[in-house]
Amino acid sequence: MTVTLDRNVEAFIGTPRQMFINGQWVDAASGKTFETPNPATGETLARVAEGDAEDVNRAVRAARAAFDGPWGRLTPSQRGQVVWKIGDLILEHVDELAQLESLDNGKPFLVAQAADVPLAADLFHYMAGWATKIEGNTIDISVPYMPGANFHSYTLREPIGVVGQIIPWNFPLLMAAWKLGPALTTGCTVVLKPAEQTPLTALRLAELIAEAGVPDGVVNVVPGYGKTAGAALAAHDDVDKVAFTGSTEVGKLIVQAAAGNLKKLTLELGGKSPNIVFDDADDGAIEGAANAIFFNHGQCCVAGSRLFVQESRYDEVVDGVAEIAKSIKLGSGLDPTTQMGPLVSDEQFTRVTGFLESGKADGATALAGGGRFGDRGYFVEPTVLTNTRPDMKVVREEIFGPVVVAEKFTSLDEIAAEANDTTYGLGAGIWTKDISKAHALAKKIRAGTVWINCYNVFDASLPFGGYKQSGWGREMGHEVLNNYTEVKAVTTLL
Ligand code: NAP
Ligand code: MG
Repeated sequence: MTVTLDRNVEAFIGTPRQMFINGQWVDAASGKTFETPNPATGETLARVAEGDAEDVNRAVRAARAAFDGPWGRLTPSQRGQVVWKIGDLILEHVDELAQLESLDNGKPFLVAQAADVPLAADLFHYMAGWATKIEGNTIDISVPYMPGANFHSYTLREPIGVVGQIIPWNFPLLMAAWKLGPALTTGCTVVLKPAEQTPLTALRLAELIAEAGVPDGVVNVVPGYGKTAGAALAAHDDVDKVAFTGSTEVGKLIVQAAAGNLKKLTLELGGKSPNIVFDDADDGAIEGAANAIFFNHGQCCVAGSRLFVQESRYDEVVDGVAEIAKSIKLGSGLDPTTQMGPLVSDEQFTRVTGFLESGKADGATALAGGGRFGDRGYFVEPTVLTNTRPDMKVVREEIFGPVVVAEKFTSLDEIAAEANDTTYGLGAGIWTKDISKAHALAKKIRAGTVWINCYNVFDASLPFGGYKQSGWGREMGHEVLNNYTEVKAVTTLL
C-alpha cells in the first residue's frame, strides 16, 4: 500500500533542483550537483545543485544587500504579515510537503502530515506576532561622577544582521522553520544550508517564502556538504551570527570557525536524555517511554534514550516497552500502515548498527530488536538493551537511532545524579502520580526541557535548548528573539 504522490511532488523531484540566491533559482557556480537518496530504497530521489564557498559568498552578498535595503525598510507590521503568510502557505501545501519530507527523510508521511508540517506552519504564525512586539526600555540612569547632570537613556533592540543557518536531516522542514521564523520576525536576513541528506523541503519552502512576498535576498538557500558549504558559512567574515543544529562534534567545529570574526552563535546539539519512570507511574508510562525513544526512529536530539525504571516496576515497564518495540511496523514512509520508516542514510545505518554491535560486545542484552530489518533500505529494528553498565558506549554516547538502554534505580535521592551523569543536558522525562516529587526532581535535572507524564511535547511558545554540551542559547518562545537581536543603549545629556 502506498499513498498517491501529489502532482507537485512528482514535478519537484522530477527536475534537478537549483539553489535559491537573491530571489533567483541558480546552478552552483561550479556547476556541480549531488544526489539525495530515498532511504527506503537507497535509490536516487533527486539531483540538487551542490553549493560551495563561492555560492555561499554570493548568498551572503545578497543577504547583506537585502539587510541594508528592502527588508530593513519594511515596518514591523509588514514584516509580521509576511511571516504569517509563510505559515498560511505551508498549511495550503501540507500533503505535498509531508510527502516530500517522507521521501527524502524516510519518516512516515502520516507523521509528517500530522506533526512536522503543521508545527512548521505554527512556528511562523507564532513568530509573526512578535514582529510588532520587539521593544527596548527607558532607563533612569545615575552616573555618580556627573553630579547634577540629567540624561535620557533608552535601549533599542535591533536585528543582529546576516545569519547563517545550518540544519540537520531529522526534521528538515521543521528545523528550517525554527531557524527562519525568528530570523525573519526580528528583521535579519539568512543564508540557510540544509543537510545534504534532506535538502528538498527547504528548497520547496524557499518557493513559498518568495510567494509570501519576502523580498529577494532576504532568504537564500544553499544546499551542499557540511565540509564545504557549511564550513564556508560558519567561517564567513560578513556573517553576523550562525545558528546551528546538529552533532556536538560539528558544533565544536562551528565554534572554532566562528572565532575569525567572533560571530554570535547559537548551537542546538546532541543529547542522551534520561526518561525516569517511578513505581507509582500511570500505566501510560510504558507507551510514553516507547514513544520517547522510537518517535522519528530515535533520530531526535531529545530522544529518551536512557530509560530509568524504579525497581518494583522495572520488569513490567521494560518488558512492556520491548513488546511495543516488537510490534512496531517498519516500512516505506509512504505506506500509510507504516509506523517506523528507515534511518535517513547509509551512514546513519552503519553508525547505529555499529552501536548495536558494540553494545552486544560489551555484554548488553537485546530484549527486543538488535539489528537490521529486511535487506533493502536503511531499516533498523526498534531495540531495547538491558544488562548495560554506565561506562558502556551505548549508555554514554548519542546513538541517534531507535535504541534505548534500560536501567534500574532505587530512590529519588540517587536518580537525579544518575540522570545527570552525562555530558549532555537537552531533555528529560519524569513519570509519576506524585506531582510534588516530579517538580522536586525537575528542579534537579540539568536539562533545557523536562516533561512530566508526557514526552516529545513541543510548542512554538516553549523555549527549547540545552544545558552543558547540548548547546548554547534557546530556540522558540520569546527567548529566541534575544538570540537574533543586539541591544543598543542610547544616552542623551539633557
Ligand atoms: P552533523 O554532521 O552535525 O550535521 C548537521 C549539519 O551540519 C548538516 O547540515 C551538515 O552538513 C553540517 N555540517 C557538517 N560538518 C560541518 C562543518 N564542518 N561545518 C559546518 N557545517 C557542517 O550531523 P550528521 O553527520 O548528519 O549526523 C551525525 C550525528 O549527529 C548523529 O548521529 C547524531 O548523533 C547527531 N545529530 C544531532 C542532531 C540534533 O538535532 N541534535 C541532528 C542531526 C544529527 P552535511 O549534511 O553535509 O553533513
Ligand atoms: Mg534523502
